Amino acid sequence: MSHFKDPPKKNLGQHFLTDRSVIDNIVHALNLKPGDNLVEIGPGQGAITFPLLKKHGALTVIEFDRDLITPLMEASEGIGDLAIIHKDVLKVDFAKLAGDGRVRLVGNLPYNISTPILFHVLEHAEAIVDMHFMLQKEVVDRMGAEPGSKVYGRLSVMLQAVCQVTPLFTIGPNAFRPPPKVDSAVVRLVPKPADQIGIVDPALFEALVRNAFGQRRKTLRNAVQQLCSGDDIAAAGLRPDARAEQLPVSDFIALANHLAKHAATAATL
Ligand code: SAM
Repeated sequence: MSHFKDPPKKNLGQHFLTDRSVIDNIVHALNLKPGDNLVEIGPGQGAITFPLLKKHGALTVIEFDRDLITPLMEASEGIGDLAIIHKDVLKVDFAKLAGDGRVRLVGNLPYNISTPILFHVLEHAEAIVDMHFMLQKEVVDRMGAEPGSKVYGRLSVMLQAVCQVTPLFTIGPNAFRPPPKVDSAVVRLVPKPADQIGIVDPALFEALVRNAFGQRRKTLRNAVQQLCSGDDIAAAGLRPDARAEQLPVSDFIALANHLAKHAATAATL
């Protein structure tokens, strides 16, 4: 008999995976190695959890829904070593969780808070080997978009600056209970080593990207005028009349670093 009796909760973004081949594809994409410290965000009723536990022997899960904690624990008996963290994932300190090592993250994320989860986990990027996340396809499209694409924007630049982003496969609504209204996709994110990222002032970089895409139709000079002048943009090697959606990630980093150094010089004058 199933340990799970409660119906899916809409407010927690609960769409449970039921398609065995999708579950197998996710487990396969992970390419688990002995000793990997694997952490799943939002195990739900265990669609991915139990196949992973069977294969890997040990797994930590983070689940916010209290009604799922006991059933998950009971259902894991005899399968493997399941550690359950009953907490809002946005309050989890992944650096602490990783201890001296690093974790691998996996999850069919609650779509209503998927972007905040992405930004939260990336605050602890140095503690993470990689992430395999299922999200709305539209969000994965934005994450992996190239300059010039209609969906290239703040999310693309912020993520690609710090991660390698690889969309893996698309899943239709019928793979879930209840079916969501949108298509889904699985994406692999691999944080870049800190010395490869080269962002001098992350807060300034974030502000620059936010302003640049705040009004997409404006030229860069007009969009970021609160942060710098057209001369600053030109001095960083960029065209002030370009539009944010045309610029590669490296240009945003070059401009932010130019401003950070310029400001640092000004402060010491
Ligand atoms: N992994 C399961 C599956 O694929 O069937 C469930 C996926 S469901 C889309 C998302 C899961 O995230 C649910 O179990 C939900 O309760 C959980 N969740 C929602 N908000 C959360 C939060 N803030 N912190 C941790 N888990 C959360």
